[in-house]
Amino acid sequence: MGSKLTVNTTRLWNTLMEMGRIGALPHGGCSRSALSEDDMKGRNLFIGWCREAGCEISFDQAGNVYARRPGRDPSRPAVATGSHLDTQPHDGKFDGIYGVLAGLEVIRALNDGNVETQAPIDVICWTNEEGVRWGPPLAGSQAFAGKIDIPTLHKQPTTDGTTVGDDLRKTGFLGTERPGSRALDCFVEAHIEQGPILEAAGKTIGVVTHIIGIRWSIVTLIGMDSHAGTTPMRRRRDALVGASEMITTLNQIARDQDDFARLTVGKIEVSPNSGATIPGKATFVCDLRHPDSAVLDSLEERMHAAMRRIAEERGLKINIERSINIRPLQFAPALIDIVRNTANQLGYSNIDMLSGAGHDAMNVAHVVPTSMIFVPCKDGLSHNEAESALPEDLAAGAHTLLHTMLTRAEIA
Ligand SMILES: [Zn+2]
Repeated sequence: MGSKLTVNTTRLWNTLMEMGRIGALPHGGCSRSALSEDDMKGRNLFIGWCREAGCEISFDQAGNVYARRPGRDPSRPAVATGSHLDTQPHDGKFDGIYGVLAGLEVIRALNDGNVETQAPIDVICWTNEEGVRWGPPLAGSQAFAGKIDIPTLHKQPTTDGTTVGDDLRKTGFLGTERPGSRALDCFVEAHIEQGPILEAAGKTIGVVTHIIGIRWSIVTLIGMDSHAGTTPMRRRRDALVGASEMITTLNQIARDQDDFARLTVGKIEVSPNSGATIPGKATFVCDLRHPDSAVLDSLEERMHAAMRRIAEERGLKINIERSINIRPLQFAPALIDIVRNTANQLGYSNIDMLSGAGHDAMNVAHVVPTSMIFVPCKDGLSHNEAESALPEDLAAGAHTLLHTMLTRAEIA
C-alpha cells in the first residue's frame, strides 16, 4: 500500500503556478523579499493550503513557519522537509518555493492515500533565505541552528527603515517557540539544482552528498598612480595589470585542480578609475569553493603564493585578507542512502552530486540529520525570471521526498 503511494504531478505544478502569481514579474518570474507584503501573501497562501490539508500551524521567534501533520505517536520527533518562499528581486517560481510546496504535496499525497504515519511530518518555511530586504541571508535556518541569537536577529534593519522585530510583530509571524527547540528526526530539503549538471547528464534526481565550502580572500594591490602618456611601460607599477595576471593565474589553478573547484573574481575596484591614469590601486574579491577542506587549504595556499609572486614581479604591495570561511558540509550518510535507495526503487535515474550554492539545509545539518534532493532545471538557470523546470521532474523529486520521509516516519 505505502509503496504505491504517489504524488499528483498536475496538482503540484498548479500549486507552484498559483504561488508564482504573488509578486509576479513581467517575464514570468516573481519577487517576494522576506517579510515584505508579497512574502506575507505567499506565506498566508501556503498556510491556508496547509490548514485545508489538516495541518497544525505554528511560528517561532524567527518567523519560521511549521506546518505539522500529526503522527500516531506524538512523542516521536517530526520528520521534516521544507525550504523558503522568499525570492531574489528578479527570481523564478521554483528556487526554494519548490521545496516548500513539494512538502505540501507530500502531505496531500498522504491524505489521498489515507496514510497515517507514526512520527509527525513537518513542512517548514524558513524565513529570509535570500537576504534581499534584510540580512543575514538564511536567517531563519541560522536561528534554528543557534548561529544567530533572537535579539540580534530582531534588531536587523530592513531596507524599508523598519527592523525585523517590527516586521514580525506587525505581520503576526512572531511566534513564542524558540528556534531549534523543536525536536526533528531529520530534515530533507528538495530544491531545483540551480546548475546544469543533472540536465546535461540526463538524470532526474540529484542525491546531494555535500555542500561546497566557501572562502573569500580580499586582495588589495598597491602600485603607483602615474600619467598614462609619460610613464614608459617598464617604469609602471600598474595595480590593475597585476590584478589581471592574478585573475588569469587563479582561474588556471582552479581549472587544473578538478571538476569540483570553483574560483571566481566577480568584484574589482580600481583607483583612481580614470582613463588617463595608470591605476595605482586595485582591490578584488577572490571567491574559492570546493567540497573538500584539505583541497581548499591546498588551493588557497597555492593561490596566495602565486599572487605574492606576481605582486613581487610587478613591484606591487599586496595585502590578502581572509573574510568568509564556510567549511564544506557533508550531509548525513544514512539519509543520503535513503534518498538514493528511494530514487532507485521508484525507478528514477540519479547521481550523487554536491551543491555549489548554500541552502537552509546546510544550517539545519548542524543540529539535525539532513540531506537534500535536487531536480533538474532548464539550462541550469536560477535567480532569473526564466528559471524553469519540468512538471514530471518536479513530481519525481516530490515522489522521492515522499518515500524518503515515509521511511523515517513509518506507516502506522
Ligand atoms: Zn533556494
